[in-house]
Parts: sequence; C-alpha cells; structure tokens
Amino acid sequence: GLMRTPLIAANWKMHKTVPEAVAMLRDLLDRLGGQAPTDRRVLICPPFTALSAVRDVLDGTGIFWGAQNMHPAEEGAFTGEISARMLTDLGCSYVIIGHSERRHIFGESDAFINQKVHAAFAHGLTPILAVGEKIEQRRAGEHEAVVEAQLAQGLEGVSAEQARTLVIAYEPVWAIGTGETATPEDAQAMHAFIRGWLAARFGDDVAQQVIIQYGGSVKPNNVDALMAQPDIDGALVGGASLHAESFARIIQFQ
Ligand code: PEP
Repeated sequence: GLMRTPLIAANWKMHKTVPEAVAMLRDLLDRLGGQAPTDRRVLICPPFTALSAVRDVLDGTGIFWGAQNMHPAEEGAFTGEISARMLTDLGCSYVIIGHSERRHIFGESDAFINQKVHAAFAHGLTPILAVGEKIEQRRAGEHEAVVEAQLAQGLEGVSAEQARTLVIAYEPVWAIGTGETATPEDAQAMHAFIRGWLAARFGDDVAQQVIIQYGGSVKPNNVDALMAQPDIDGALVGGASLHAESFARIIQFQ
C-alpha cells in the first residue's frame, strides 16, 4: 500500500556470533551506500548476544534493530529470559512476538503471546505479531479461521491507538525455511483477510495504517512480485537475510 512505509526485516534466528554479525552488517551497509533507504524501513533482529554490537554498527545509519522474542514480565526469577526493558536499553525499536518456531517448538500459547504484546506496547517497543497456519490447516480450508483466532487472542485487550502502530507478520508455517513460498495471490488474499479483520476490530482508519508483512522463503527472485500486492507491506526474512548480497537485493525490491 502506498500510504504505508514498507518494512523489510531480517530474522537471523540462532545464527551469527558477534564478529559474524558485524561483518555482515558492514557488507550490507556498503551495498546500501552506508545508509538506510528513505522510502522503506529496514530492521535487523539478531540473536540477543549480538544486539549490543549491532547497535554500535547501525546507530546513525537509519537502519533499525530489534529482538526475536522476549519475556512479558518486568523482571524476576525467569532464568534464561530477556525483558522489554533490557531491549529498550539496547535501543531496540521492534520485537518479534509469536514466531511459529516459538509457538511450535517452544509451545508458546496465544495467551502468553498476548502478554508479550502488552509488555511490548507498555515499553514503547513495536510488536511484530507473527501468525500463520500449518499445511494441514490450509489443506482443510481452516487457514483463515486459524489466523483469525491467533489475531483475536494475540491482540486481546489491545486498544485502537496501540493497534495503529502494530506490525503483523503473516507467515504460513509450511513456507518458513522450506523454499516453498505462498503465491503472491494466496498471500494477498490472506493479507486482505487480516486487514479486514483489523478494520472490524479497530476501525478502517487503523487497519489502513497497520503494516502487514509476509514471511516464508522470501528471496531476491520472489520479493518483487510479493511486494507488488496491495496489502503486502513488507517482508520478514529468515534464510535470505543472513547474507548481505541477498538481503540487500530484497531491501531494494522494485
Ligand atoms: C522466518 O523465520 O520468519 C522466515 C520467514 O524464514 P525463511 O525466510 O527462512 O522462510
């Protein structure tokens, strides 16, 4: 959509040490002429261990950084977890919440995800709420119902003013890391469904402002067709975000 600034985000998952992260970002910045483009927003979500170094490289470039997950509590006895305040302290602007790997490998529930969404808003972090159906759910024709339930539960108690700043990532589980992308038409259909749901819940004015990213095997050779769809406002990129050459090309979608 023309009124929404596209958001291209890298989800590095459990990849890259500090020197690897720094080297990749220096290469990426070289390819972008040292600065983020002005007509699209770029976000890097490294592992927690690289956030401080990533901040040092990206500060002043116009590229944003954020986290792949967080815990909803303010602080406390949660061994191994990271709070919202720890992320804002490192200059994070965004946090991915409810990624399918968190849902399906680590068993995160929609209720837990909802707590994280509220914690993100409370700390001024923009939540990127990830939703998406499994292959058997799509085959059974349940994909819209599954995504609707994830939205309804994940966004419970969220106000229209908060929703205005929200990012949704539609990531069909069968397309993540598989090399199998949703067709631009299937992705657009789901994005339109999501925006319609947001309009019914928060009003059309809010729905028109929400960034809805597509994720699932976005590559240099399919990003242009995906981004040409009217309700696809960005991409959440895993594998192809690990290399400067492919991620720079994705950022430079036509
Ligand atoms: C992701 O993890 O959010 C993702 C979309 O991964 P990939 O691009 O590797 O499919």
